[in-house]
Amino acid sequence: MSDQYAVIGNPIAHTKSPLIHGLFAEATRQQMSYVAIEGPLDPDDGFERIVRGFAADGGKGMNVTAPFKLRAFALADERSERAKLAGAANALKFENGRIVAENFDGIGLTRDIEVNLGVPLTGKRVLMLGAGGAARGALLPFLAAGPADLVVANRDVSKGEALVAQVGPHDAGLHACGYGDLAAMGRFDVVVNATSASLTGELPPVPPSVFSPYGTAYELAYGKRLTPFLRLARNAGVLGVADGVGMLVEQAAEAFAWWRGVRPETSAVIDRLTVPLD
Ligand code: NDP
Repeated sequence: MSDQYAVIGNPIAHTKSPLIHGLFAEATRQQMSYVAIEGPLDPDDGFERIVRGFAADGGKGMNVTAPFKLRAFALADERSERAKLAGAANALKFENGRIVAENFDGIGLTRDIEVNLGVPLTGKRVLMLGAGGAARGALLPFLAAGPADLVVANRDVSKGEALVAQVGPHDAGLHACGYGDLAAMGRFDVVVNATSASLTGELPPVPPSVFSPYGTAYELAYGKRLTPFLRLARNAGVLGVADGVGMLVEQAAEAFAWWRGVRPETSAVIDRLTVPLD
């Protein structure tokens, strides 16, 4: 029997992960299957039972999506540093009876911006909107890229401050603020919308003055064409606007490499999944 993998979430019908991993497996000639599992929303241990059952039946790994990333992190026996900072796992590996947790969302986002879009973060002024799971996962990979500034703006300022405090005082250019502080901070080279506002067609209260015309505006949500955030950036004259489809494929490639020891090529898969913004 081929090695088995799955993605678990709820809802899960929309997931692109089986398609992405199927294309990766075909391209790298890996014998594996990858299915979608709808996880239970009840607060009992149904989620944990499904994950442990999948592993006991010979499963090798799982991707985890909303709303189970925190629970997946909690049930793991081992956790990577970036999973620890995010407090969340988006990938699990089952080996020698143990569950290992990883979080590739941040590295996927960083690779998409730096490699696919060709925008190095080194020395740049970077603004991250949001301090939820995706923003938390992005913090260490962003800092590793060496930006001049990394500002985390969140509605609930204390959440952003707690996140920054967790990383420690050594990163001088890292700080948290509220949206009301942004107007006085000048322009940023890269503005990342890591809030979930776009999922409901909302716009985080970000002033247009943060955008730089030669900069980049990145929306983590994908497949939603020009979201209010991307529209605001366009109207502010930003030339480089992108959504999160590349991040989705890049985080999948990281998980695939972690599980299978071979990193698949991503550009054809990104092209296939891209919904044009206009
Ligand atoms: P969380 O629920 O963990 O965090 C939500 C964040 O959004 C919080 O910071 C919250 O602020 C903020 N927020 C929600 N609504 C608004 C609003 N109307 N205005 C301003 N801020 C708002 O979500 P995730 O971090 O898991 O996901 C964030 C986004 O990233 C989603 O769109 C998700 O689809 C996307 N994503 C994309 C991935 C990809 O591969 N492309 C992977 C993972 C996520 P507060 O704390 O103040 O409530």
